Amino acid sequence: MEKLKSITIENNEKYLRQISKTVDINDPEIHNNIVVLQDYCMQNDVMAMAGVQLGIPKRIVYVKNTNLEILNKRLTDEGKEETKDYNEAKVLINPEIISKDGLTTFWEACASCSWYENGIEMWYTGKVKRPFKIRLKYLDLEGNYHENEFEGFEATVLCHEIDHLDGVLHKDIADEVLVLTKEERIELRKKEGYTVIKKTGDYEQLKNA
Ligand SMILES: [Zn+2]
Repeated sequence: MEKLKSITIENNEKYLRQISKTVDINDPEIHNNIVVLQDYCMQNDVMAMAGVQLGIPKRIVYVKNTNLEILNKRLTDEGKEETKDYNEAKVLINPEIISKDGLTTFWEACASCSWYENGIEMWYTGKVKRPFKIRLKYLDLEGNYHENEFEGFEATVLCHEIDHLDGVLHKDIADEVLVLTKEERIELRKKEGYTVIKKTGDYEQLKNA
């Protein structure tokens, strides 16, 4: 199988900036679109992907890994082998955040925000504030309506992906942006990992305090 490539800001920033279209659940292409996202997620070490990152500007998100323990395990070759089949396989169609509570920070990276410099992959790595807890409405692949709460690191990943659907990148909203290699990012996250500042309270107010 040909390796799928993410659209990056380097090769098409304008494309990534578009607002993705709401999915008609009877769209005959939607199952194939999800398969494309799933294949990419299984071939690459990513947490999740939004459709627009792979040339599908529809409001779809595929979630593979939001488990910090598993993500940390994957930093060693042994752990990588042990966790290679790990997949949450969550499909979110037309996700919409209803409420945001609490405050966290994390040094985020993005499959669409990397490029090569002298053969080395460099990444925009941004310290981003996100809510600790979100309430989300979305459809699954069968068209069933869901309304659920997500909290902790999963909420951070979901917020990052849902931003993609509105053409927003992590580097746009980060308090601080660094250009790092993957190794440098791993070191930075060891020193300053996912941080919960507050679990409750209105996110918008906490963010601007
Ligand atoms: Zn991203």
